[in-house]
Amino acid sequence: MFKVNENYLKLPGSYLFSNIGKKVRAFTEANPDKKIIRLGIGDVTLPLAPAVIDALHKATDEMAVQETFKGYSPDLGYEFLRSAIAKNDYKARGVTIALDEIFISDGAKSDSGNIGDIFDVNNKIAVCDPVYPVYVDTNVMAGRCGEYDPVTERWSNVIYMPCTKENNFAPKLPEETPDIIYLCFPNNPTGSAITKAELQKWVDYALEKGAVIIYDAAYEAYISEEDVPHTIYECEGAKRCAIELRSFSKNAGFTGTRLGFTVIPKELKSGDVMLNSLWARRHGTKFNGAPYIIQRAGEAVYSEEGKKQTKEQIAYYMNNAKVIREGLAGAGYSVSGGVNAPYIWLKTPDEMNSWQFFDYLLQEANVVGTPGSGFGPSGEGYFRLTAFGSYESTLEAIERIKRLG
Ligand code: PLP
Repeated sequence: MFKVNENYLKLPGSYLFSNIGKKVRAFTEANPDKKIIRLGIGDVTLPLAPAVIDALHKATDEMAVQETFKGYSPDLGYEFLRSAIAKNDYKARGVTIALDEIFISDGAKSDSGNIGDIFDVNNKIAVCDPVYPVYVDTNVMAGRCGEYDPVTERWSNVIYMPCTKENNFAPKLPEETPDIIYLCFPNNPTGSAITKAELQKWVDYALEKGAVIIYDAAYEAYISEEDVPHTIYECEGAKRCAIELRSFSKNAGFTGTRLGFTVIPKELKSGDVMLNSLWARRHGTKFNGAPYIIQRAGEAVYSEEGKKQTKEQIAYYMNNAKVIREGLAGAGYSVSGGVNAPYIWLKTPDEMNSWQFFDYLLQEANVVGTPGSGFGPSGEGYFRLTAFGSYESTLEAIERIKRLG
């Protein structure tokens, strides 16, 4: 009889967002007159930029005509998009990335989940704590994480790198040596960023230990400070130890349109084996390409109009971030993030734990956020608010929180 992949059975239920949903539904049923403001979910709300919509229309029309119709995309993605990426995301930052080092995908969630395919099952992973849950969960599915301890909420074979107020939400180099290090900057959920000098230490460490860094730069477009690197390849030697993941979701509102890419430099090797070749093999075998019309839409993000329009969207969200950060700080909360990222991370007041604060905000201010404990044990005692709402509702939410005193 067939057997299932038992690693899946080890995964604790995806409790965070379903529990939030349940609590909000119960509250709304009991209080139908209350207007709830949701600053919990990390999804964009502004419509796609006009330059992107124009490109979608144009590409759709091409699909209607025999001469310009497109079937399967090339394995790595269309060259027009990879060229735009190499030029705008890398060359413009002084980094040379070859076109065959860029792999177009349907987003960073798939890439961050799938990248484990090219690594040995016995590799040991290190993750920031708190962290985007996909890194750990997908490694559990692959059988790389050992056993789960529900008391400590940790996996036995994972190196956790706490990111708390005490270390300014920047992980320390781990004492135990990992094989695969997941870093995400600007960070979800803490909203923290890393300076180039700090990131260089990670690159040096990975090179010294023979580890690979999986660098998730999904929030790159939100960087506002000068000394924060936009790509890990700004660091010396990074091409020999790092894979970079990028997404169009948060820089251009493609969460429902789906587009991303992964960069694997050819210098990155395990012995004589190029990871680029392994990923090319994996990509060509298991993925049949992002749709042509979406790749054209992605190309439009790099047009002059597209750049201007998406920059305006980001400025809109970051203005919300400022409203949240400054409003809460003014009300006496200990807040971080919101400067290089659309996430604001706050310390829960009065010794409340993350879920107690969730209930308190829901009941008293009718505002929904995300309990920090849902992102990992070191997120306990913290809370995440996002800047993706409308300006008006963000302002109103903060006014309500301030009124709580
Ligand atoms: N990586 C991080 C850190 C994220 O927070 C998210 C989405 O919230 C993703 C990746 C997913 O990106 P995509 O929409 O491209 O799959």
